[in-house]
Amino acid sequence: MSELLRYAGTLRGGEALVGPRRVQLDLTDRCQGRCVACWNNSPLLPTRPAREPAVLPTARVNTLLGELTSCGVEEVFLSGGGEPSLHPDFLPILTRIKAHGLRCSVNTDLLRYNPWILEELVCLELDSLTVSLWAGDGPSYAALRQQGREAGEACFEQVLRNLETVLEVRARTPRRLPRVKLYNVVTRRNVEQLGPLYELALRLGVEACEFVPLDPLPGVMDELTLDRAALQSLERALELLFLRRHPGLADNLDQFLRRLRAPGAGEGRYDASEVVQYPCLAGLFFSRIRADGSVNYCLKSGRYPIGSILEQDFRALWYGEVYAGLRRTAAAGVLPFAESCGRTCDNLDDHRELARWFDRLDESRQGVAALMAELGATCGEVGP
Ligand code: SF4
Repeated sequence: MSELLRYAGTLRGGEALVGPRRVQLDLTDRCQGRCVACWNNSPLLPTRPAREPAVLPTARVNTLLGELTSCGVEEVFLSGGGEPSLHPDFLPILTRIKAHGLRCSVNTDLLRYNPWILEELVCLELDSLTVSLWAGDGPSYAALRQQGREAGEACFEQVLRNLETVLEVRARTPRRLPRVKLYNVVTRRNVEQLGPLYELALRLGVEACEFVPLDPLPGVMDELTLDRAALQSLERALELLFLRRHPGLADNLDQFLRRLRAPGAGEGRYDASEVVQYPCLAGLFFSRIRADGSVNYCLKSGRYPIGSILEQDFRALWYGEVYAGLRRTAAAGVLPFAESCGRTCDNLDDHRELARWFDRLDESRQGVAALMAELGATCGEVGP
């Protein structure tokens, strides 16, 4: 029903009749990692943030879950500015999310987990676990985290052991949850890792393997940005991967190739020609709540918070005038954060799905119109 209301909202010029389908909740900005491509903690950043990393208060998260459930949210995705498992109440929050009947996904480095917590993730029937890995071997893992080789390799082995634990425990359960995905940001430093990562995903027996080109922080991550040579060697690696593609492993290789071949790829504008083909209605399907409480329209609008859940009920923000204005802008065909949209849009799949729905609706309308015309003609024939 909620989904129908979201679609109905798109037909009313982007009016929210129900809450978003999915909310990304950044429990904390704390992170012990130093991934080179991270906008918050990269060692390439000229200065470290002066303030302490934000952490969402558990009491506020608890009330928020009630607000999300009551407005029809279906999934909470724990991800964001830091490592979600470093929130002091990570497991109790996860338990509450599931108790509210919401689907729950976690995006994690899967590094500092003990076996007991890994078993709990399976027992709680976490729906999906996305492991941010980026490398298929220890030395590359170390290079992407600016670690010494020995320490990096030890961390890589630990992540693999943790993955294997989750998969082993999961194999003994009836529902086989969580679904596990390897998530890989591709930079100039791991161009050669496509094949090894894909092979690793197959060997482990995870369900999905995804590749995303780095969205670099301008002026800071230039050395990581995919240049022409890197784009070409990625295309060659992809051609080989297509030959070895396994039907049991979900992937986004077609989308990745499309991005690499995009006219703006050399400038890091991988989605510029694609985003303009669809209306952006992310404001009806998605919302992000950050560790400092601020609410964002999408992952590319971090500098433009709509408000804060530390000051207001989420529903007041969702149905409020700022959000409504953004939705109206987007529904009118204007990208609300146009300067960022063309780089990589994380909601592109939703936009495509919506466009397909509009197409089907058009077909149905045309079908009904044709039927009415035929009926009219038939009635005319048999009429008085
Ligand atoms: S990046 Fe742009 S097109 Fe994508 S969801 Fe955000 S505003 Fe919409």
